[in-house]
Amino acid sequence: MNEHQETTTDPVAAEIDVTALMETFRTMWGELNAIGVGESGVRRFSWTEEDAALRAWFTSQAEARGMDVATDVNGNIRAWWGEPAAGAVATGSHLDSVPDGGLWDGPLGVVLGFLAVDALAAAERSGTLTRRRPLAVVDYMDEEGARFGVACLGSKLMSGAIDPEAARGLTDADGVTLAEAMRAAGADPQAIGEDHEGLARTGAQVEVHIEQGKNLVGLDAPVGVATAIWPHGRWEFTFEGVADHAGTCRMEDRRDAAVPFASTLLAARAVAEEMDGARATFGRFQVVPGGPNVVPATVVALLDARAKDDWTLDELVERISRVARETTTANGVTLTVTRTSYAPVVDFDPDLREMHAKLAADAGEYLPELPTQAGHDSGILAARVPTSMLFVRSPHGISHSPLEDAADDDVVAGLRVLVRALAHLVS
Ligand SMILES: [Zn+2]
Repeated sequence: MNEHQETTTDPVAAEIDVTALMETFRTMWGELNAIGVGESGVRRFSWTEEDAALRAWFTSQAEARGMDVATDVNGNIRAWWGEPAAGAVATGSHLDSVPDGGLWDGPLGVVLGFLAVDALAAAERSGTLTRRRPLAVVDYMDEEGARFGVACLGSKLMSGAIDPEAARGLTDADGVTLAEAMRAAGADPQAIGEDHEGLARTGAQVEVHIEQGKNLVGLDAPVGVATAIWPHGRWEFTFEGVADHAGTCRMEDRRDAAVPFASTLLAARAVAEEMDGARATFGRFQVVPGGPNVVPATVVALLDARAKDDWTLDELVERISRVARETTTANGVTLTVTRTSYAPVVDFDPDLREMHAKLAADAGEYLPELPTQAGHDSGILAARVPTSMLFVRSPHGISHSPLEDAADDDVVAGLRVLVRALAHLVS
């Protein structure tokens, strides 16, 4: 990010041949969407036949551009524009999906990564761009965690955020371990783990992703820059009452575990609505013994809570817990609350955010900043290397669903912002 490039980066974005690139976009999109797309949505899970087809597609895209492809020890695959070297610039995202997901979550960032290389190569040929750092387009392994239950597996392994032995033992729904699945796909599970070379070769990363919400719709902006990933966690609430006969047990004698749980569920919604956009969801709960004519003895419920900062998140969970405590006492039920997972706030690199803001200001474009409530590989890697994320507007704001979408103009706008940033970073 040297001062002297300031005058040379914007002409690169200005030179983009939108018509030609969108034609390439549509061709790539068509090829990609012949893989793992069924009637109920997209199913692309790690180390499957679909995964192999996606890797073959990625490799063919790289080869068509004269880029060398390298798969790292953790199954993350990179196409290199220039010789791999420390301090390289990375872009890309992931090609896997949730069960019955949409077309855009992940693939948009990979496809725009390749299109950015096309635009930058054209700028280099015309003399507008002088490249000083290599660039890698990356497809991170198993971002969604759909098969083995751990999201961002490739970036977590790469950055040392998960123990390789624990990762090898993860199992899918059929009891197949990650180690077995990797071996079946021709990869070596013994090699997985912290990748110092990969980290050193990620001098800066810019990931484009479809927005998973409606902030950009509200802001009337096609593209935005992520400020941070909200802290989030899960808490297990266990309500213990006493089972009894649904007919013979008088209402005033009951110690029904479901009653305080119901109050707590309603409180979660009401409290979150009062707390600056916070989110609170009881998405999974189990009633024991679960008989239609039995007063519930126990309810085990999992709260997923997210908020803009740690203080708000603590306050959110405390207020929900307070309602749970009060209503359990009033109903003769006991309560235990245990935190089962926690991910602290992730702030994206301030220098990269400032770069995006300055480049947009120079180009006279509106590029708002916004937080996100969803996890990403760039969020995991942010602990080790400078990363930033660009979100492209999702017209319905729907995510992890076949209803995901993006308008052509917004895709072009996202590409322009990405190209401008990458031109700045590689020169
Ligand atoms: Zn994603």
